[in-house]
Amino acid sequence: MNIFAAMKPDAVYGSVYDIPLDKLREEGKKCLLLDFDNTLGPDHATKPDDYAYKFIDKVREAGFICCLVSNAKSGRSAGIAEALGIPCVTYAHKPRPDGIFRALKLMDTKAEEAVMIGDQVFTDVIAGRLAPVYTIMVEKYSRKEIWYVVLKRPFEKLVRLIGRF
Ligand SMILES: [Mg+2]
Repeated sequence: MNIFAAMKPDAVYGSVYDIPLDKLREEGKKCLLLDFDNTLGPDHATKPDDYAYKFIDKVREAGFICCLVSNAKSGRSAGIAEALGIPCVTYAHKPRPDGIFRALKLMDTKAEEAVMIGDQVFTDVIAGRLAPVYTIMVEKYSRKEIWYVVLKRPFEKLVRLIGRF
């Protein structure tokens, strides 16, 4: 596989709210594996806000099960997942796919029934493609980001330019 193909998501949307959930259900997907920081809320938030709560409601209404798959320390991501009422895999080690494997086992889901959703190429997208599961990239929730994510964004921009996504 070409290196840029490995970093290209199956689909890109402006936000999680633009994801066609009904279409994914029709295609046999049943489980959403969700990044949190800058996907479902502000980067490094300690608790979810309405944006995340409403999306999880929408996901449930569409008939999905879902699980947070976060690289964050266990305390923060577990707290967020608990508030949202969904399971969580912490220390997911994205871009390694092992967090996704743990989530699939936890959710009793086959890879072909799962969708990874996140805002970063170098963590979420690569992990999703390596698993492999259907992988959706969303544009970041807000401009504010922790410094080490800011450092990665120019390289991500270059990859997106070359990969045309
Ligand atoms: Mg993120």
